[in-house]
Amino acid sequence: MGKRKALIAGNWKMYTTVVDGCRLALDVAKTCSELTDREVLVAPPFTILSEVAHVLKGSKIIVAAQNVCWAEKGALTGEISPVMVQAAGGSAAIVGHSERRQIFGETDELINNRVRGALAFGLLTILCIGETLGEREDGQTFNVLADQLRKGLASLTGADMANVVIAYEPVWAIGTGKTASKEQAQEAHAFIRGILVQIFEKTVAEQTRILYGGSVKPANIDELMAQIDIDGALVGGAALDAELFGRIINYK
Ligand code: PEP
Repeated sequence: MGKRKALIAGNWKMYTTVVDGCRLALDVAKTCSELTDREVLVAPPFTILSEVAHVLKGSKIIVAAQNVCWAEKGALTGEISPVMVQAAGGSAAIVGHSERRQIFGETDELINNRVRGALAFGLLTILCIGETLGEREDGQTFNVLADQLRKGLASLTGADMANVVIAYEPVWAIGTGKTASKEQAQEAHAFIRGILVQIFEKTVAEQTRILYGGSVKPANIDELMAQIDIDGALVGGAALDAELFGRIINYK
């Protein structure tokens, strides 16, 4: 099995405009210029994707969109196509974030369309999945994860998975300050990898990166990254502070 390269991703959500976003991007770039054993990604709002990509040119930081449409163009008001993301300097997209699912009602089927569209245009695609607190308390965590994974990845081939990253983000841990324990996170990641074996095959499952997301901070990143099936992190709040995000990127 080839070693999975760690990926630390920062989701800026609906924060930052051009000046503070470019400053943040440059500060993040300074904290990771020496690292070769891990990848770093930032996902600014669409409105500053191009400026952020511009200031990060020459760095190895991957610039991602926070969502993406399946189509190249069309009468799809409010949507951004994979081609537009690429023209703005982005090469990746986050899809299926729980805020998209819960606040904007995005379904697994819609999310699968987005995943397939992003892949068709060659974007690195981060598919987010995760259970709510109620689902965890009802003992439904594994059912929810398996279902979101199977539906989100529907009709993909093993070869497609080379450009897919899964982010396990328990909804109850996002922006709440509550992190899944390292044991809870590892258990979910191992389960997800097992489902990937069922959908595809062992080699695909072993090569797919699975990120943990949910209140990742400098205080918990080291123990999370020490888990065998945790290959990186998707960071929200702490990604808006270059010092905190820098420490997360430089996990030990
Ligand atoms: C997220 O937005 O994906 C996230 C994990 O947020 P936070 O780190 O703030 O919990």
